[in-house]
Amino acid sequence: MSERIDVGLIGATGTVGRRLARLLEEHPWFRLAELGASPGSAGRSFAEALRGDGEASEIGLGADILGLRLKPPDEDWSSTLLLSALPSREAGPLEAELARRGHVVVSNASSHRMDPDVPLVIPEVNPDHLALIERQDWPGALVTNPNCSVVGLAVALAPLQRSFGLERVSVATLQALSGAGRPGRLADDIIDNVLPNVAGEEEKLAREPQKILGRLEGGEVRPAAFPVSAQTHRVPVSHGHLLAVSVELERAATIDEVAGAMAGFEGAVTDERLPSTPKRLIEVLDDEMRPQPRLDRGRGGGMTVSVGRVRRCEVFDVKFSVLVHNLVRGAAGAALLNAELCHVCGTTARTPSR
Ligand code: NAP
Repeated sequence: MSERIDVGLIGATGTVGRRLARLLEEHPWFRLAELGASPGSAGRSFAEALRGDGEASEIGLGADILGLRLKPPDEDWSSTLLLSALPSREAGPLEAELARRGHVVVSNASSHRMDPDVPLVIPEVNPDHLALIERQDWPGALVTNPNCSVVGLAVALAPLQRSFGLERVSVATLQALSGAGRPGRLADDIIDNVLPNVAGEEEKLAREPQKILGRLEGGEVRPAAFPVSAQTHRVPVSHGHLLAVSVELERAATIDEVAGAMAGFEGAVTDERLPSTPKRLIEVLDDEMRPQPRLDRGRGGGMTVSVGRVRRCEVFDVKFSVLVHNLVRGAAGAALLNAELCHVCGTTARTPSR
């Protein structure tokens, strides 16, 4: 790509938004030109809004971006491509309105993920699902990335589905604090503790993987049939969700074949390499004590999914641990990769109308 295109970032001051700002700062294709936040922060510069949290210097952004003024949600945006890190409640109506106005909105929020005409995409797994935008009524488009735990699960399951078929899946998550948004939100509850439920996440784990691993037929996604039983927990870890997964396969496989299928999985390849694609989508670790959030979440710049302890399951066929960086592969990096996919597929060539 010769020239960088301007992009906007909605929800810039939140946990995911700040991470996206950092990833966009040196992006080879995109230039972060516009930022938005809630009506309470609008009008302030990005630096001023972050200073309230004492975090401007911590995230290490340059003066160009820190000097941008935060737009309120109802203001016009001049960039066609908008990355959204809005809370779901706000994302529902606002993202649809922006797509109606001709913007290509790439969203982290759950509000539209399960809409039949909205793609729920992991570029290495189901890039063909982007075709769903042709069914959208808007002049623009809306594309979503999965829930932060679902990304890790779907990436690990994709090679198993392809090689052996999936009968059923059980997953228990140990989810990091940053998955709950702003630092401090859970501070009092989580010290010396584990919370035995992450509200709303079990439903997402039970539904999103089947859409991602479903087949695109006649312009619709037919969800995969395997059921998922999910249990979620919040643990006192800063970043990185760990998942304990058990899988029953359709066709028998040895442990070496299962581990080999995951380690060798390159995923779908686009004609042009997307800048945020990691060298290795899955790393299978040969160490009984890995993966660990602190040691392994940064693999591939946070975009690699780590798998370990692949072994025989006494109830299903095989069980293993999965680690996904919730803020990178699970959120900011996932959205950026989807934005890159939209760009190489020509989706961002649309023009906003006012
Ligand atoms: P967060 O820290 O609470 O940040 C929310 C952002 O949205 C802030 O910039 C906030 O601005 C802005 N906002 C709030 N109300 C708004 C409104 N009415 N209009 C415009 N902007 C508004 O949330 P987060 O953890 O970054 O999550 C963002 C989204 O990503 C959520 O949908 C979440 O479910 C999803 N997600 C999060 C993770 C994760 O690991 N954290 C992973 C995957 C997906 P102010 O600063 O002005 O309040």
